[in-house]
Amino acid sequence: MSDQEIEFNHLFREEGGIYRGKIVEQTQFHSMLFLADKLIEGFKTSERARDLDIYVDVIDNFSINACVGKKGERYYIGINVGVLVLLSNMLFRMFSSNSILTEVGDASKERVTRKIHDAQIRDIQTLLDDFNEDLTPDETRLAAASFFFKSIIEFIVLHEYAHIIDGHIDYCIDTIRVCKLFEIQPTYAVGFDNPVFQQTIELQADDFAIFGCLHLLHDTQLGKFPVNPLLKPYFKDWKSTLQFWYLPIYTYFRFFGHLNQPHSLKKSSHPIPAVRSYLVLESLDHFLDNDFHLPDHEEVSLSCIESIFKIEDTFDQMSEQGKDLKALVIY
Ligand SMILES: [Zn+2]
Repeated sequence: MSDQEIEFNHLFREEGGIYRGKIVEQTQFHSMLFLADKLIEGFKTSERARDLDIYVDVIDNFSINACVGKKGERYYIGINVGVLVLLSNMLFRMFSSNSILTEVGDASKERVTRKIHDAQIRDIQTLLDDFNEDLTPDETRLAAASFFFKSIIEFIVLHEYAHIIDGHIDYCIDTIRVCKLFEIQPTYAVGFDNPVFQQTIELQADDFAIFGCLHLLHDTQLGKFPVNPLLKPYFKDWKSTLQFWYLPIYTYFRFFGHLNQPHSLKKSSHPIPAVRSYLVLESLDHFLDNDFHLPDHEEVSLSCIESIFKIEDTFDQMSEQGKDLKALVIY
């Protein structure tokens, strides 16, 4: 192992250490690590991140979590292997259905949807048991599933990255003397105990992730990043690009919430999905106007709301919980 891997393994030893198991041999996981490295490389040249030493890897832990840490002058981003298992399994389950997102590729090649009772699944073992059963036969749908996976990982890594460059982990070390900041606080670890403060830093991290994703999408449109030729029709302009990108992002928010309850605002560490999705749409308007000088706010927002409806339909088909349209009440 390299020095960085040894330190990563040591820093996250309570969580399971570095993941070097069989699942990492899967192409999806290799591409995730490769993508994370490329993202970090890109950000190292940006103004805010100059001189920061950041290492990203996978933690050998099958619960759903991600974490940033610091040891010496080096920062670490750890993503639990459980997150990768969840995303792979659920995304391929979606696209291997002949009634979900049927406008993508040829859905008639797919099978009847295999429902799961609760889409906010936390029991990764049940997903591991049927890990390879949901590969879709249609190449466009397979490419779309990979794009969804990549987009969500990008969002997570950028979100964690924000916890570093916005000073959250340093603040954590200075105030509560803990060198790890988790997305979901484990019972054995010490964390911040002020939900309003926690939700504020989470929204700040989301805001950065949205901005970072927009730049990546813009570069994709400009041809700086390769896109699977089968998916090119989805990147022809901002409207189609954002509509396609928001499908996986809303899917990601939705994995972590169903039936948004405003009272949970007072005690949870993360904002409810309705607030996160509202921030995305507001931020898109702001960034498109100020950074990309694109005046069509309303049209772009409406195209993203269309994506929300498509994913709510998806969850309605895939799980037995029904739709959750409370997020849209805010509009
Ligand atoms: Zn966070």
